[in-house]
Amino acid sequence: MILAAALLTIGAIVFTLLVRARDLPAPEPVSPTRRLDERKAAIYENLRDLQFEFRLGKLSDKDYELTKLDLQKELAAVLAELDAVAGKPAPAPPPKPPNQCPHCQAKFDKPLKFCGECGKPMTGGAA
Ligand SMILES: [Zn+2]
Repeated sequence: MILAAALLTIGAIVFTLLVRARDLPAPEPVSPTRRLDERKAAIYENLRDLQFEFRLGKLSDKDYELTKLDLQKELAAVLAELDAVAGKPAPAPPPKPPNQCPHCQAKFDKPLKFCGECGKPMTGGAA
């Protein structure tokens, strides 16, 4: 009997944990800005390395120019992407449509002018 109760308790706990895990939103993805910043830093580093190697005479003028151009192109793309991300404010949740009555909290599928439950106006705030 005690064993059965214990098993039941464990089962309930496991069930709760499973349900919670499923209900939790997906983990926040790494911020795009951070990913881009890391790429930008890597490209700058590559450019520095490239210049260093060129000065040491390890690279021909042509190789240096070509690789530099490639890196600069990549850098420009990353910077443009960063600009696009920075220019856009974080996606804010859309304004809540008035499909829930502020008076009786009744919810409706569609935004309504007047509450189908209590008949009071759904919009206008102070009513
Ligand atoms: Zn209402």
